[in-house]
Amino acid sequence: MEVDLGAVRKNALAAQQCLHTDEPGIVAVVKADGYGLGAVAVSAALHEAGCTRFFVAYPDEAARLRQILPKAEIFVLHGAPPGYEADLAANRLIPVISTPLQREGWTRAAGGAPFALQLDTGMNRLGFSAAELAAHGPSPTPCLVMSHLAVPEEPAHPLNESQRDGFSAMLRFFPGLPASLSASSGIFLGAGYLFDWVRPGAALFGVNPQPGTPNPMSQVVRLQAKILQVRDVDSPMTVGYGATHRVARRGRIATISAGYADGVLRSLSNRGSAVVGGVRVPIVGRISMDLITLDVSDVPEGAAHEGGLADLIGPDLVVDEVARQADTIGYEILTSLGQRYARRYLPAA
Ligand SMILES: *Cc1c(COP(=O)(O)O)cnc(C)c1O
Repeated sequence: MEVDLGAVRKNALAAQQCLHTDEPGIVAVVKADGYGLGAVAVSAALHEAGCTRFFVAYPDEAARLRQILPKAEIFVLHGAPPGYEADLAANRLIPVISTPLQREGWTRAAGGAPFALQLDTGMNRLGFSAAELAAHGPSPTPCLVMSHLAVPEEPAHPLNESQRDGFSAMLRFFPGLPASLSASSGIFLGAGYLFDWVRPGAALFGVNPQPGTPNPMSQVVRLQAKILQVRDVDSPMTVGYGATHRVARRGRIATISAGYADGVLRSLSNRGSAVVGGVRVPIVGRISMDLITLDVSDVPEGAAHEGGLADLIGPDLVVDEVARQADTIGYEILTSLGQRYARRYLPAA
């Protein structure tokens, strides 16, 4: 697995440019081990590029980040579950508080330590509802007020404007405080969705924030697997578990060293693809735990050879396309990548 830290940095700058401000408006989301790419490496690269604020989901993820970024502001999206307050405060981590009970617990345990407040504006997932805010009030004062969009990848969806307007209305309780509504896709909905800070995650790692339009982001990941064996096959042979692929004509099968245990989703069996010797080839047969079989009959003799490499994600097979083939989203492809890959980080220039 190759992770291009220069591309991560470029994507952060592209997001920053959408903001039309020099303020450090980007808060990088690096939860789930930096979307599977290695939170420590990508966060260090983003920090060097000037990013000083980060979001993760769990207190443990935040504690790990704190070890390499002693001065960064690190926010914990899951907030301060009861019992975690002292640990969070000791590490100077900032919980994103979503319930009146959590806010009470944090105030009691951590005194005046900073926290972010999450408001629910129509996603119905996490955050104070408008009614809860009215009932429990805006005090004590948070260091950040945020909400999250449910359908930002569909610009015409009416929920976007409804959430934005609901957020603006609730912000009247918090005059002068930094506000944040948009993640990767929301950044591209226009100026009205930017507020003070934006929270890109997937876009930093090359996922297209507005599917259906050209991807403004650079690709970050290249995933290659070694060809362990190439064999000649002919009709009426079958390939792999369940004998689900029937060979129709004389050809060749290359078996490569990756499988569903490495995050190549088993749903790509008989429908995904790879690139060998510059040629797009189909995944044939079922994906095994550690092996995948490719039909390399159309690859020039010699280009598909034992010891050679196949791209499972790469410049000619981008993460969003792999996701389409697997009937999922780029987020799931990236966060499923396993821990067995040898990782090579290309340094930011
Ligand atoms: C995951 C997450 C983000 C980042 O979302 P992307 O779509 O990956 O940019 C931002 N904010 C919240 C609250 C999240 O849960």
